[in-house]
Amino acid sequence: MSAGDESLAVPMRHDRPRVLSYLGRWGRARRWLPDDARVVLDVGCAFGYGTAALAAGGRRVIGVERDPDHIREAARRFPWLQVLEGDAEALPVADRSVDAVVMLDVLEHVPDPHAALVEAHRVLRPGGMIVLSVPHCGLLARIDALNVYPALRRRFRSWQPLEPADETGPAGHHHFETEEIRNLLGSGFVVSRTARTGIGLTELVHLALLVAFKGLLRSRSAYRALLPLHLLVYLIDDLIPAGRYGYHLTVEAVAAEPAVRS
Ligand SMILES: [Zn+2]
Repeated sequence: MSAGDESLAVPMRHDRPRVLSYLGRWGRARRWLPDDARVVLDVGCAFGYGTAALAAGGRRVIGVERDPDHIREAARRFPWLQVLEGDAEALPVADRSVDAVVMLDVLEHVPDPHAALVEAHRVLRPGGMIVLSVPHCGLLARIDALNVYPALRRRFRSWQPLEPADETGPAGHHHFETEEIRNLLGSGFVVSRTARTGIGLTELVHLALLVAFKGLLRSRSAYRALLPLHLLVYLIDDLIPAGRYGYHLTVEAVAAEPAVRS
């Protein structure tokens, strides 16, 4: 980290392992991050549950989140976590100030994914690493609950909207091919590892919860109370290495040295 950047200088006190330190995209990112990645930015960290999981083992992980409600919630649940207000396309840290950037299920929600990756490159030190995850064009991409439910809602107007964090642009919740991510990363990054996991069984559960509780019963509180079920199915499904049928794509890439950049 750069010595002059006070915003990155707050020590992290709590670092106990959590379930998410070992499973799902958070566990994978934590395993993939090199030991010498001491300052890590978790971009689009919501209320910090993943940031806390990534921090297990004593690594300093700083969240970045644009939604003030999420930032307040993070402060309440994880008061020892540092969460900065900012956007994936305008990160609130200096050039070359972090060892790694983690961007889990963020790119499919931002208006300009390429701009977010250029910004990640700006804040990474040369040789630093990005670990990102996105929905993949696998077998069950068409049953993506975040695309199917809004389509149903256009017919059933009284159904409740998605949670703000699940909202997508007009193009919907985009599913990527590995090559598409490689192209978006551009010449500033070298892809070093990929994984395609889970077949998307979670989506059936998520869609059922959305239709039952936000649609038919119109009870946001019941929906939110049952969300851990959806997470549990995701964590189990994600253990399946699914190749081209995979629902989730994780990509690791290294920021090229400036001399190699075109
Ligand atoms: Zn998403």
